[in-house]
Amino acid sequence: MTGSELRERFAASLMPNYGVPRIALTLGRGCEVYDVDGRQYLDLIAGIAVSSLGHGHPALVKAVAHQAATLAHTSNLFVHEREVELAERLVSLLGGDAKVFFANSGTEANEAALKLVKRAAGPGRHYFVAAGKGFHGRTSGSLALTGKDAIREPFGPFGMDVRFVPHGDLDALREAVDTSCVAVFVEATQGEAGVVPAPEGHLAGVREICDATGAAFVLDEIQSGIGRTGAWFAHQSAGVRPDVLTLAKGLGGGLPIGACVGFGRYADAFHKGDHGSTFGGNPIACAAALAVLDTIEAEDLLAHTTVMGELLAERLDAIDHPLLAGQRGSGLWRALMLTGPHAAHVEEQAAVRGFLVNAVAPDTIRIAPPLVITPEQIGVFIEALPTVLDAAEAAAIKENQS
Ligand SMILES: *Cc1c(COP(=O)(O)O)cnc(C)c1O
Repeated sequence: MTGSELRERFAASLMPNYGVPRIALTLGRGCEVYDVDGRQYLDLIAGIAVSSLGHGHPALVKAVAHQAATLAHTSNLFVHEREVELAERLVSLLGGDAKVFFANSGTEANEAALKLVKRAAGPGRHYFVAAGKGFHGRTSGSLALTGKDAIREPFGPFGMDVRFVPHGDLDALREAVDTSCVAVFVEATQGEAGVVPAPEGHLAGVREICDATGAAFVLDEIQSGIGRTGAWFAHQSAGVRPDVLTLAKGLGGGLPIGACVGFGRYADAFHKGDHGSTFGGNPIACAAALAVLDTIEAEDLLAHTTVMGELLAERLDAIDHPLLAGQRGSGLWRALMLTGPHAAHVEEQAAVRGFLVNAVAPDTIRIAPPLVITPEQIGVFIEALPTVLDAAEAAAIKENQS
C-alpha cells in the first residue's frame, strides 16, 4: 500500500473535516517516524505535543501490553488499581488538596471542568470569561469557550454567555469579571494560537481577579502540562494554583486520556451521578499515563526538557534568515515566527527533507518534539533549517507568480 493509494482511500471513506493529510505514517521509533513509502522523518511535533516519550518507548509498550493482557476495561461500575494510582500520582505532583476526574481527551476534560464550575457556582452567576484566540476543544461546551472565531462561529449559538477578552490583558479581564461570573477559562501559553505566552505575572493576576470576585479559575494545561515546558505543569513555574486544571495530550504518551483536577472546594463539587464516562479512567490509558510519569522521573526528563529547550532556542536565535523573524515559547514547546504567511511552505519543505513540523498559523511554525529528543537530533534539524527556509521562500515566490 503506497501513501498515495492510502490517501485516496482516506478521501473516499473519511469525512473531509481534516482534509487529506499529505503523509501516511506507519512506524515510529524514538524520535523517528517512517511513512508507508519508507521515508524517515525526525518527529518534531510528536502528534501535537502528545508522544512525550517518543515512539515505542519500552516502558510504555510494557505497561500497555501488560494491562491489555491483565484487564483492559472495567467501566466505572468498578474500582481498579491503575486509576486510583494515577489519580494519587497527579494529586501528589500537584501538591495535594485535589481530586481527579478522568476523561478520554482534552475537550472532554474541559467539558467536565465546565460542569464542575457550574455545580460549584452560587446563585446569580451566569456567564463565563475566556481568552480571545484561545483553544479549549471541539465539543460544544469547550467550543463555546474557544476564542478562535473561525472554528466557533459556524456552530453557535451554544446556550452559554461567554465573553472574550484579549489573551494576557489583565485590565480587560478585571473589567469583564464580576460577582456574577461563573468561571474564567485560560491557557497559560496559547498553544493552538501559535505558542503565544502571556506576559509575566499573568496567572497571578487571573488568580487575584478570581479571588476578588469568587469566579472559578480554570486553567487549561492540556498542551502545556506533563513536562512540556520543563516543569510538570506550567502554573508551577508561575507559583500560582488554579481552582480547576485540565490535562490531556502528553499525559498518556499517545494513549487517549484526559483529566480534570479540582482543588480545594472544587475537589468535591460534583454530587454522585453528576458526571461520567464509560471509557474515562480506562485501565490501559491509566497504565500508559503511569508509565509516562514514571519515565519522566526515571529519565530526569524535566531537566532534560529545560536544557534541550534552551539549546533549541539558542540555536534558532543564531539563525539569520530573511524568512525567520524569531522564536518564542518555553521548554520543548516553541514557535518559529516567520516574516510572511509562508508556514505551509515551511512545513512542506521540512517534510521533504525529513522533518515533521506544524504550520500552526499562516506565519507560525510549531515545534513540540518528544521530550526525549537528543542534542544531536536538534543539531541535525538546525543545520537543515536554512535550506528548508530557502526552499519555502522559493516555493512562495513561485506560487505568487503562478
Ligand atoms: C488540544 C487541546 C485541547 C483539546 O484536546 P482534544 O484532545 O483534541 O480534545 C484543549 N485545550 C488545549 C489547550 C489544547 O491544546
